Amino acid sequence: RANSISFVGLGRMGSEMASNLFSKRIADENNSRFVVFDAVPEVAARFIIEFRKQFHSANITAVDNPEEATLASGTIITMLPSSPHVRQVYLDSSGIIPTLRSMPPLDASNTLCIDSTTLDVQVGRDVAAEAQAAGAGMVDAPVSGGVTGAKAGTLSFLVGGSEQSFTRASPILAHMGQRIIHCGPAGSGLAAKICNNLVLGVEQIVVAEAMLLGQRLGLDPAVLAGVINNSTGACWSSSVNNPVPGALPDKSPPCERGFEGGFATGLMIKDMGLATDVSKESGSPVPLAEAAEKIYIEAVRRYPELSRKDFSAVYEYLEGMKR
Ligand code: NAD
Repeated sequence: RANSISFVGLGRMGSEMASNLFSKRIADENNSRFVVFDAVPEVAARFIIEFRKQFHSANITAVDNPEEATLASGTIITMLPSSPHVRQVYLDSSGIIPTLRSMPPLDASNTLCIDSTTLDVQVGRDVAAEAQAAGAGMVDAPVSGGVTGAKAGTLSFLVGGSEQSFTRASPILAHMGQRIIHCGPAGSGLAAKICNNLVLGVEQIVVAEAMLLGQRLGLDPAVLAGVINNSTGACWSSSVNNPVPGALPDKSPPCERGFEGGFATGLMIKDMGLATDVSKESGSPVPLAEAAEKIYIEAVRRYPELSRKDFSAVYEYLEGMKR
């Protein structure tokens, strides 16, 4: 188990993260073993085929459930859509925590769980407490940087957990990201991630509004983007994820490929919901997050295909709105 890593959830982010982690691990140690699991077996099978194109003799297998992933490896990384999936993978009868409880105490204490999902802070804290009670270490380590950052290995990890678990997790996270920030005890990484995405969700709508207004005032989108990106309005949504084709000199934003890939609007709705929910619990006002959440929900109600497209596609929804 010591040389084995299990990765659970090989979607847009997980597949890129696992690919970086496994390939860097192979470069470090030639006896590494990898185990993958996804709720959709074809997704795991496709990942193995792609990985073997680069590393023909890699010791990598797919398993049928989180229990097998736990029995196989001392390091388990999960990258799932949200709270219900994390509860299921960790707490169900064939989940990670019941499996840890059934193992010899030494094996359980030699296990580290890293959850990179963006989910509810309290669910993250509860799962971490259960993992700790089962003898294992656990950190919440949600990421910032999107699919591009996952692919390039330049993600930022926002980590919550004990000093000891953070120290254990850091070298593993360093294979998938550039910045690893210890935000505090369990749940702190999630709290930081939710606050960051609150900014992002609002910012992307504001950039879409400004890019649309500017064009209707006769501005060339490339000129307008150049102005904003060299002025006080500059932000990631305008300089990297600009929603107007041709606005940026490079052709990498999702708008250049019909808003495919990137960060799904459905996931942004989930993240705005996480922010507005915790704001009620904590009594902290978030009027702009509430307005943004409504806009994304309405966009998907009007155009259901936007749910899986990048959230910058909110631009298309605004474009179709009458004032
Ligand atoms: P995704 O939907 O592409 O991938 C999720 C994967 O998890 C899928 O392959 C799915 O089959 C699998 N899965 C679902 N339930 C499962 C279960 N019970 N057991 C095993 N596998 C299961 O999502 P994504 O874009 O990779 O995002 C993952 C997480 O990362 C989300 O919490 C998201 O908010 C966060 N995130 C995404 C981005 C982005 O740009 N896509 C950026 C930062 C953070």
